[in-house]
Amino acid sequence: MHEGFETIMTDHQKLPDYLTEDQPREACGLFGICRHPEAAKLNYFGLYALQHRGQESAGIAVARDKSIIDHKGMGLVPDVFDMQHLEQLFGRSAIGHARYSTTGSSILSNAQPFVVHHRQKSYAVAHNGNLVNAHHLKNELETTGSIFQTTMDSEVFLHLFVKNLTHGFEGALVESVKRLQGAFSFVLLTCKEEVIGIKDPYGFRPLCLGKLNGSYVLASETCALDLVQAEFIRELDPGEIVIIDENGVRNIQTPAAGFRTFCIFEFIYFARPDSTIFGKNVYLTRKDHGRRLAQESPVDADLVMPFPDSGTYAALGYSEESGIPFEMGMIRNHYVGRTFIQPTQSMRDFGVRIKLNPVKELLKGKDIIIIEDSIIRGTTVKTRVKALRELGVKRVHLRVSGPPHRFPCHYGIDFTTQDELIAAQKTIAELQDYLGLDSLAYLSLEGLLASTGVADPEHNFCKACFDGCYPVAFDDNLSKDCLEKR
Ligand code: SF4
Repeated sequence: MHEGFETIMTDHQKLPDYLTEDQPREACGLFGICRHPEAAKLNYFGLYALQHRGQESAGIAVARDKSIIDHKGMGLVPDVFDMQHLEQLFGRSAIGHARYSTTGSSILSNAQPFVVHHRQKSYAVAHNGNLVNAHHLKNELETTGSIFQTTMDSEVFLHLFVKNLTHGFEGALVESVKRLQGAFSFVLLTCKEEVIGIKDPYGFRPLCLGKLNGSYVLASETCALDLVQAEFIRELDPGEIVIIDENGVRNIQTPAAGFRTFCIFEFIYFARPDSTIFGKNVYLTRKDHGRRLAQESPVDADLVMPFPDSGTYAALGYSEESGIPFEMGMIRNHYVGRTFIQPTQSMRDFGVRIKLNPVKELLKGKDIIIIEDSIIRGTTVKTRVKALRELGVKRVHLRVSGPPHRFPCHYGIDFTTQDELIAAQKTIAELQDYLGLDSLAYLSLEGLLASTGVADPEHNFCKACFDGCYPVAFDDNLSKDCLEKR
């Protein structure tokens, strides 16, 4: 080792800001397929397509010989599985999970799918979202004898499910779902080769149904269906349970809320641009964010550029609407891995450029507009703006393709306290100054909602991280006003 360098192999949470990009992280990608001879391999590719939703751990569970076998590991999908693992996971029905933790620690025992055995039967579950009443339910279940193996809220569902089996299989699903509060999309696998998809009564997280030859597929996003060449059938409705078995697909509609709360931030940041979620293509929606941003907050400049990859599609829209040329003013190194040499304090400046390096000849002496999709802590943006100034960029205008994040998310996204959110601490003018910008503007909430094209967006989207109006109570202190307004 060279003096002044420290080699670090770390999990994602310990990476410095310039590598993590100071971005929020999602809480998981789900995939499931019923009765296909290549179930595990298709799950592998499905999870590969959903890797953007979770990079901490990955797992696949397969039904075989009236039992369930699984393989899980920490890291990215290709790090966790090799061909030998996939060959060993033979079986016709499988579910898979790519995880980023928002509850529970980032440790192997919390990797999903969770598998449990109960009265000669086995079940596996994978979860995307966050159960706001998990603590309460866990206390109740432990009081009546349940022993939890993990610190994950998702395990609560399985305990409820097996306790409710006295109501029969379908009854157990319905009764369990009725007890859960918060955001949840689940895929469940039984040792009888059934695959079940469940969406919460509000429909926070995406989950869709597809068909591949004679087999049915469930996936968090349509990009996973595309990769395995499955045909998109439809998204699950809020409160819907879909059961796939040897007879095909049947569904149960549990009581849905009187309104929907699709997570609007899926459009801005989480979902892959080639996916269609909540009935809208993500790429086109992001371009529309950029167009609206250009209408709401125009400014003269020589070029429009994103901090790649976030902001790229909105920057295209901003450029088209304003007529200002789009350029890739910063080049991303796509090969930055999870192992790196941490530069010493005196060498921090080049650390900033490890992931994104400005194109000097393009930017020097120019007035530029940067499009970013969100500012969470602000540290990365500040560092990058400073680097651009030092390069000789004349004016730096920042436009953000969503409203300011002023409130934490309690439904499965990892900004959980207001202290972490720079827009909750500073006014726009203060933030502009803090980030070293010539101007700063955000897309309005009205503009964001209008971009969805939904007639009554107030009753179709969660936007609590922008307006603090939480659609599902997460504690007793929550203002009832927000809930009653819905
Ligand atoms: S609070 Fe924000 S990030 Fe969380 S579910 Fe609602 S819109 Fe999505």
